[in-house]
Amino acid sequence: MSGASAIGRFAPSTTGPAHPGTLLAALLCWLDLRAAGGRAILRLEDLDPQRSSPARASAMRDDLTWLGLDWDAVQLQSQLRARHEAALDRLAAAGLLYPCRCSRSDIRTGAEPAPDGSFRYPGSCRGRPLPSGGWRQSDEPLRLRLPLGRIELRDESGASLSGDPEAVQGDPVVRRRDGAVAYHLASVVDDDAAGVTRVVRGRDLADTTAIQVALQRLLDLPTPAYRHHLLLLEERGGKLAKLHGAVGAEALRAHCTPEELCGFLAHAAGLRPDEAPTTPRALLAGFAWNDVARDDRVVRWHGDRLELVR
Ligand code: GLU
Repeated sequence: MSGASAIGRFAPSTTGPAHPGTLLAALLCWLDLRAAGGRAILRLEDLDPQRSSPARASAMRDDLTWLGLDWDAVQLQSQLRARHEAALDRLAAAGLLYPCRCSRSDIRTGAEPAPDGSFRYPGSCRGRPLPSGGWRQSDEPLRLRLPLGRIELRDESGASLSGDPEAVQGDPVVRRRDGAVAYHLASVVDDDAAGVTRVVRGRDLADTTAIQVALQRLLDLPTPAYRHHLLLLEERGGKLAKLHGAVGAEALRAHCTPEELCGFLAHAAGLRPDEAPTTPRALLAGFAWNDVARDDRVVRWHGDRLELVR
């Protein structure tokens, strides 16, 4: 990695409070960039009109600051809409967008499961045209007609991210029925606009990286380096998630100091032999991905403290 040119972002969805998994991902992304002398951007992904709010975005930012993380720039993704629309214009001009009228149950019926837990879109609406007035006139979800073809790609950790996204997930929604620009499109457009050279994020997003690379190719955007890291899991197996009510930052902050939480996260990530309190800055010296644990870890919240179960 060439340090001076490393530009990366931590891009949490602001659909709920930060939880320990969010904070671990933020810490690892920050360490990756700061250790290389790079530029670290916080991009608050607040495009979901139902679940995001200005208060949630600001709480996310505040929780990361509390942990000791700082940023060279902070972006609110909802303010970057003009670029997202310009990308939709380009995709529409290339004949790659179509409106989809399939309901969730239409898609589930007979569809193959996709690795991210959803179902492959079978392409039923592929032949439908956009309204004659253009994509803005459509009040249906808009999908991207993905070209058939395998994307060859390797994660910096060595894992393969290769695959044919059309065969695995099917054509993705790029603009939702409620008008929100969907994650994959917004993410690649914003990464490019910010000059992002490195994407460091949780392993749960590895399976759909090929969709993002396909989008980059269709829009003539460069592909950054990708690195997907371990996740913190709940005991029942799934990733800690805002939706499952994982312990949120408010409770964590009420019961731990930032140094205690940082020590816990550093130990969970394999960066420290024990949970002794520490700070992100103290972890910078000697930070190396080779020292970061590869396997996901299971954590339990006891109401007043976190425990690393395995
Ligand atoms: N906003 C996404 C999330 O919180 C992550 C985006 C990314 O890092 O590409 O899961």
